Amino acid sequence: ETIINQIAAGEVIERPASVVKELVENALDAGARRVEIATVGGGLNLIRVSDDGAGIPENELQLAIARHCTSKLSEDINDIRSLGFRGEALPSIGSVSRLTIRSRTADSDSGFEILVDGGRTGATRPAAANRGTLVEVRDLFFATPARLKFMKGERAETTAINEVVKRIAIAFPHVRFTLSGPDRATLDLNAVPDQIERIAQVFGKEFPENALELDAEREGVHLSGFVSIPSFSRANALQQFAYINGRPVRDKLIAGAIRGAYADTLARDRNAVAALFFTLDPADVDVNVHPAKADVRFREPGLVRGLIIGAIRQALAGAGI
Ligand code: ADP
Ligand code: MG
Repeated sequence: ETIINQIAAGEVIERPASVVKELVENALDAGARRVEIATVGGGLNLIRVSDDGAGIPENELQLAIARHCTSKLSEDINDIRSLGFRGEALPSIGSVSRLTIRSRTADSDSGFEILVDGGRTGATRPAAANRGTLVEVRDLFFATPARLKFMKGERAETTAINEVVKRIAIAFPHVRFTLSGPDRATLDLNAVPDQIERIAQVFGKEFPENALELDAEREGVHLSGFVSIPSFSRANALQQFAYINGRPVRDKLIAGAIRGAYADTLARDRNAVAALFFTLDPADVDVNVHPAKADVRFREPGLVRGLIIGAIRQALAGAGI
């Protein structure tokens, strides 16, 4: 079972930032209003995510790390992707690291913890804990040295973690996120009333007055959000965030369409800052192309591309640009 989990980990857990994404999503699923993230060594030495969410009851701790055991995977090992990734994250992480989950629910006055060490699960035992859940991942990939060799180094991993947290945080303005640790890049995003204020926290408080608002629709695909005026552009493309039905996605088509919209107004080496929110019938988009990579496949890519370019061009024209 450890081997199977390690194979799954190869799919779901590409790098420390993937762990952060899974743990933060779990915290949000548990209704957290505060999510604290700390990392050491670009997340390779330590990732700690604590939340004030619902917590995990004592009798469910074992389940949390054992879900979707071997039965489904052993039927067809080539079919891992089609399983999706529900219930895979914690067992996967536990198979390649030293994982501690400590939790207390609101109606329990004692907390409990469970340890998994390279796939070996210990017994559930009592532990002092605040309400909510604390997950610690130490020595990520120590159990899979081949994977460890492929890490790009501390700085790159720290940057990737920072981007993942920002990406998720934009979709949850009511939640406070902190990212800290000896790793240089840190974030402190207080809870704010709406998305534009969260975007200002992430992109800089000068963003709103340098932004154009988008609001457009084509054949059932709705696009809202904000893009920067050309003078507020950046050298890298890291400041473009897209969401489909509230879920963060990263997609070449979206990036390409943004680039196309600014073709006449931005130099090739500059990138617009953008936060785009798409709402559409879930049947018209496949967001599970790959469990970890947030790629998407639109049923009508041409329509979406046209929508993005049209909306941005119209906003630029409206501002006399
Ligand atoms: P999934 O999120 O797909 O269900 P995971 O492996 O990520 O699978 O988590 C397994 C289970 O552990 C979750 O379904 C949830 O019941 C529990 N869990 C994990 N993290 C938390 C958390 N931070 N707060 C409460 N429950 C959690
Ligand atoms: Mg999960």
